[in-house]
Amino acid sequence: MEQAKIVQNFGRNLRFKPSHFYSPINKDELIDILEKHKRGKIRVVASKHSWSGLIETEGVLIDMSHFDYVKIQEKNHETSVTVGAGCKVKKLLADLNQKGLTIPSVGLIAQQTIAGATATGTHGSGKHSLSHYIESVQLACFDENGKSAKIVNITEGVALQAARCSLGCLGVVVEMTLPCIPQYFVQEKATFCETIEEVLILEKKAPLQQFYLMPHSWKFFAQERLVSLELRRRGFAAIYRIYWFLVIDLGMHLVMKLLVSILRSRRLVHIFFRSIVPALVFHNWLVTDRSDRALVMKHELFRHLELEAFVVRSHVVEAASFIKDILQYADDGNHQLSDSTNELIQKAQLFDSLSSIKGCFTHHYPICFRRIMPDDTLISMASGVSEDWYAISFITYVEPRDEFYALATFLANSMFELFQARIHWGKWFPQTSKLVNQLYPKIDTFRDVCSRYDPNGVFRNSFVEDKLDL
Ligand SMILES: Cc1cc2nc3c(=O)[nH]c(=O)nc-3n(C[C@H](O)[C@H](O)[C@H](O)COP(=O)(O)OP(=O)(O)OC[C@H]3O[C@@H](n4cnc5c(N)ncnc54)[C@H](O)[C@@H]3O)c2cc1C
Repeated sequence: MEQAKIVQNFGRNLRFKPSHFYSPINKDELIDILEKHKRGKIRVVASKHSWSGLIETEGVLIDMSHFDYVKIQEKNHETSVTVGAGCKVKKLLADLNQKGLTIPSVGLIAQQTIAGATATGTHGSGKHSLSHYIESVQLACFDENGKSAKIVNITEGVALQAARCSLGCLGVVVEMTLPCIPQYFVQEKATFCETIEEVLILEKKAPLQQFYLMPHSWKFFAQERLVSLELRRRGFAAIYRIYWFLVIDLGMHLVMKLLVSILRSRRLVHIFFRSIVPALVFHNWLVTDRSDRALVMKHELFRHLELEAFVVRSHVVEAASFIKDILQYADDGNHQLSDSTNELIQKAQLFDSLSSIKGCFTHHYPICFRRIMPDDTLISMASGVSEDWYAISFITYVEPRDEFYALATFLANSMFELFQARIHWGKWFPQTSKLVNQLYPKIDTFRDVCSRYDPNGVFRNSFVEDKLDL
């Protein structure tokens, strides 16, 4: 056992001190920890990139970073990888790349651990979430009476669907197996569009595309992405990576931090997004790069906080127009809402809560839209319907965050009423269990699986008890 210290997450919106902190080096040690604390409360912590209260505990906190092995195997001409729970996605990608392989999906950064990323349904664009692909999970949990700790392998059925995106509620993930695919290259081009309909048309030829609604110009910027037929870098990819790092990852973020945190100027934020950001983007630079370079960015360089709302494809056009109007209203209390937004607000009886965000917050970050194919899980955000989902993210770099929290709460609740929007489990999470119960049709099955592997609720904290009615 290590000395328990104060734990802070990436966004610094969580700060707590667990009673005990362990970093086991093998399964025997892990089982001993579970045996010792079977009458207490246990949570697992990984890279601490989540903003929701998932890792918070006054009980035992376990860190699985010693479990970072990567074992590649081949069976019946299919290649898979068994990866230790605490392995960072970037190490997994690097090890697989050495063998000309990769995993089927990756998010915007690769700093998360594999167990942390899959526990919350982490996703990229144009594929399923990472959780969907999990073939088996090895779990440290309790027997049916909750009397002794044991290791189980979960390979099928509802238990596997629950373990793929478990929010840490089934037990401690020891390792998991994922399919590998041959390493591939991604072709990318930046394009500005006036409307979301134009962007969605581009998706047909660029299925890995992600796009942004740019605040204050209210134009769309698409990163058209598709799998390249060529297996080599093209279009000065190395220079493109340096440009992207210096100009976007560093430069754009530094200027934006200066405007919103130091100068606190609404007018300069408007000018920045209307005139400067469009000039920073090279239109039509056609570049091809390896997938693990092309699909990620250095988004972890500056501390921020994020809410992400998921809507199905049939709602995404209406949702984009609603968001634009609401962000304009939050920026400027005199903004006239469009007739369609007024109708929606009236239909959902949201006028009272709308007044609470009038002129309260100038949004200052591109609103990213990513398409996620439906997942075979019980409670990941993209679980359960046949339509594709769009994850829509709202990010703030301003602190204190009270105004953003008010806006984000309004967005989460109004988008639930209007579009049945689900909120990313790993991001800032204002929705209540009442909404969660309506949004996830298989939540009862998830609760049953949790009770099977953890009959005494040892692996629950107040966040999961509160949001999942556990
Ligand atoms: C800069 C940044 C960029 C991001 N980009 C994306 C993105 O592109 N797409 C996206 O979907 N999300 C994204 N996220 C969110 C992030 O992927 C999720 O919050 C993810 O869960 C974080 O993983 P982690 O390793 O930090 O886990 P933590 O945040 O430490 O933990 C997350 C959950 O996993 C559980 N857990 C971790 N390890 C285990 C284990 N061994 N056994 C059981 N439970 C475990 C924890 O208990 C907790 O419930 C981003 C976050 C940041 C800060």
